[in-house]
Amino acid sequence: MSVSRTSDSANSRQKAEKLLADRFRCPLHLANFPLAGTLSPTSGYFQFSPGVICYGQCASGTPAQRVTDPLHDARRYVTLNGAHSVPLPFDPLQIIDNLRCERYLADSPGDEQPLPANRFFRNAYYLLRPLLPVPVRKHLQQLYFRSRDTIPFPKWPVDRTVESVFDQLLIFAMKAGKISRMPFIWFWPEGAPSCTMLTHDVETAAGVEFCRQLMDLNDSFAVKSSFQIVPELRYPIPDSFLPSIRERGFEINIHDLNHDGHLFTNRKQFLKRAERINRYARQYGALGFRSAVMYRNIDWYDALDLDYDMSIPNVAHFDPQQGGCCTVMPFFIGRILELPVTTTQDYTLFHILNDYSTRLWKEQIARIRNAHGLMSFLIHPDYIIDEAARRVYTELLQYLTELRAEGETWIALPREVAGWWRLRSEMELVQEGNSWRIQGKGSERARLAYAVLDHDRLIYEFR
Ligand SMILES: [Zn+2]
Repeated sequence: MSVSRTSDSANSRQKAEKLLADRFRCPLHLANFPLAGTLSPTSGYFQFSPGVICYGQCASGTPAQRVTDPLHDARRYVTLNGAHSVPLPFDPLQIIDNLRCERYLADSPGDEQPLPANRFFRNAYYLLRPLLPVPVRKHLQQLYFRSRDTIPFPKWPVDRTVESVFDQLLIFAMKAGKISRMPFIWFWPEGAPSCTMLTHDVETAAGVEFCRQLMDLNDSFAVKSSFQIVPELRYPIPDSFLPSIRERGFEINIHDLNHDGHLFTNRKQFLKRAERINRYARQYGALGFRSAVMYRNIDWYDALDLDYDMSIPNVAHFDPQQGGCCTVMPFFIGRILELPVTTTQDYTLFHILNDYSTRLWKEQIARIRNAHGLMSFLIHPDYIIDEAARRVYTELLQYLTELRAEGETWIALPREVAGWWRLRSEMELVQEGNSWRIQGKGSERARLAYAVLDHDRLIYEFR
């Protein structure tokens, strides 16, 4: 890894400003974040204030190779020299990218990484899975995932590191600019405090069969959701199946190609499969995608001709592929928008954690609402045919629709969430005398908000 050169720093500064504006849609000229010092030759873990764990190169101290090592606190080395400039001992763009794109996994040897042994287990397990009786399968998974909730990073059960880094950057920028109230474009339409979306991956023929009942159940709560369909080999797709989903106002997305667990095994095969996936997406009128078992290699995503992906968990301690994007907000990977899965999926809850309650989901909901984020759920029709599981899901629907009734969340289809996020990303705040106006397509649904500096904290207000 090379040390960043002076010629790169102006570029990086521009990008960093844009980064802050992209999160808050606040005025562009807010602050500069020049690099203070020389970045460490290698990447590693450090903190940006206690508990906010970052990964990347650092100029103020040596980043640790393991997240469990004592971590350098880079925030203590940020000095405000005024004049809209906040020299930082790291490249904020690199840090955010390493978190959201899970790049901290690539060259770090920590226990939390997908070690070869883990990869071996994963492949062997996936190969044998169809042959194993369910109780054996569950037992193996419980052994494998034991004590995953104690891994310090990403933080279980919801990781909001990206939001914490952004907030800290905005606090520094506001202090440097002596600004106490920063106008920005609120995260969700009509000023909704949070956003919720429900998605269903259809795994088996039994799942296909159960979709109608699941739509009835969702409709009884006036909730629409998306169904991710495996286009090849997995199960027959009756002619009437896709129209029956579409005509009821539910959404159809693509779930992998054939769900054999090998979508990302090699690049050549992936490109061939991506072509087929793109063709099915056009045929189904689908805009979104989720891979099998949430396996992912985002560096290959540019071959997918889709509007959004939903394959990255917020924290993946209980998934076969480790990692997590450490954010509860949508974000762009090139031209594809990522709508991360921010809550524990039903299979993990019921069969690995052995929890037949909404306790964990409610805890995650509370944490995500606190960050005004996206609460995205993955519920499989296949796994809620069972009555005990269905009761828990029904309770979740009850809880979410109560929140909606109280004006606490916007429940929307993935395509609506993605559509909104794209529009918002194009909107601008323009100054008109002493006030601000939101400009751009869809701005009639947008709300002007203010980030208010309260000592070392940010408070969001609408007026
Ligand atoms: Zn699946």
